[in-house]
Amino acid sequence: MAFDFLDVSSEEGRALLREVGADAGALPVVVVFDGRVLRDPSGVEIAGALGIRTRPDPRPYDVTVMGAGPAGPAAAVYGVSEGLRTAVLEAEAIGGQAGTSSLIRNYLGFPRGIAGADLAQRAYEQAWLLGAEFVYGPRAVGLRADGEMRVVSLSDGSASISRAVVLATGVTYRRIGVPSLDALIGAGVFYGAAAPEAQAMAGEEVYVVGGANSAGQAALHLARYARQVTLLVRGSSLAATMSDYLVREVDAAADIVVRHGTEAVGGGEGRLTHLVVRDRGRGHTETVPAAGLFVLIGAEPHTQWLPDGVERDDAGYVLTGADRRGGAASASGGAHLFETTLPGVFAVGDVRHGSVKRVASAVGEGAVALRMVHDHLGQA
Ligand SMILES: Cc1cc2nc3c(=O)[nH]c(=O)nc-3n(C[C@H](O)[C@H](O)[C@H](O)COP(=O)(O)OP(=O)(O)OC[C@H]3O[C@@H](n4cnc5c(N)ncnc54)[C@H](O)[C@@H]3O)c2cc1C
Repeated sequence: MAFDFLDVSSEEGRALLREVGADAGALPVVVVFDGRVLRDPSGVEIAGALGIRTRPDPRPYDVTVMGAGPAGPAAAVYGVSEGLRTAVLEAEAIGGQAGTSSLIRNYLGFPRGIAGADLAQRAYEQAWLLGAEFVYGPRAVGLRADGEMRVVSLSDGSASISRAVVLATGVTYRRIGVPSLDALIGAGVFYGAAAPEAQAMAGEEVYVVGGANSAGQAALHLARYARQVTLLVRGSSLAATMSDYLVREVDAAADIVVRHGTEAVGGGEGRLTHLVVRDRGRGHTETVPAAGLFVLIGAEPHTQWLPDGVERDDAGYVLTGADRRGGAASASGGAHLFETTLPGVFAVGDVRHGSVKRVASAVGEGAVALRMVHDHLGQA
């Protein structure tokens, strides 16, 4: 959808406001191609004005896919390819986490990388052209079984009714809240797992932020390649936040330095080359060379809205297949790798316990899960 931004202080911007009879009091003003003028609209209002569906069809779908990060549209592409009537529900923005990445370099088929927003747009278009119905805006707030149907209730009071549900609601990583560092995400600053970038850190100075197990594991993994890994920990000890065996391994590693009471407060431009670290006690800052900053200060899976019948691990990630506490057998009889403890409900991508947290794996899981949905619907 072609669009343009006009600054309200520009001559063009002022002229447009005059033309449509809007004042600068309720910005932003959105002027739609058919002449409608929206003042400080919500995302849902804009989507509605552009003709995008903001409520699911009341008639049942075959499958409802929750979330339009990489996993959701992948599931939808395979859903519609299998002849299933497929809805994709997204509360915030198509693309999910991947959509916020400035350059994804490790997704197959894009030798020079692809901007996350670009990938998201292509995925959306592909699923839409094949026949998936996207519903933008309302957030899923509940899920229940009603006989053979699965009902996802939405924040606007509507519901998506379908014979199967694929949960692809992903996670949110806690950010460190330093704008100059968040501007370098993908360009030396990484959230989540460190493994895919580790080899690129060979011989470099690398920093890891966090004091929990994920940070300890990342530091140990990075130390296999980097010249030195420095773990920046806000607290005065790791003992309260990291498992004992990891604390011992970190302490024993010659290439890992732990700096307590220290935080990252700034970095380079364009690409991370140095880091500004601050001693929280004394308040003084220092600039150090750094090729990588790995931030592992926790992630929140989007699963709070799910019923108890969809079993989760202690951190809230959805248990599927053999990870379910009941053992390896599928709730619906077969060996359904991605099925949850609620039959007919599957989970893929980052929201799933044990997932790899990468675009390619989320896409792959979405594709595989749809095969299982198909089998489930054949049985139902
Ligand atoms: C900044 C950044 C850079 C990254 N770079 C790379 C990279 O270079 N290479 C790589 O392989 N991976 C990268 N990743 C990881 C990758 O983006 C994720 O693994 C991937 O996006 C997971 O896909 P997903 O579909 O499972 O979940 P998500 O991408 O998290 O998408 C989930 C979607 O569900 C929606 N949702 C959540 N709850 C609800 C609800 N209740 N109702 C409706 N909708 C809901 C969310 O709004 C979101 O759009 C990066 C991640 C980040 C944050």
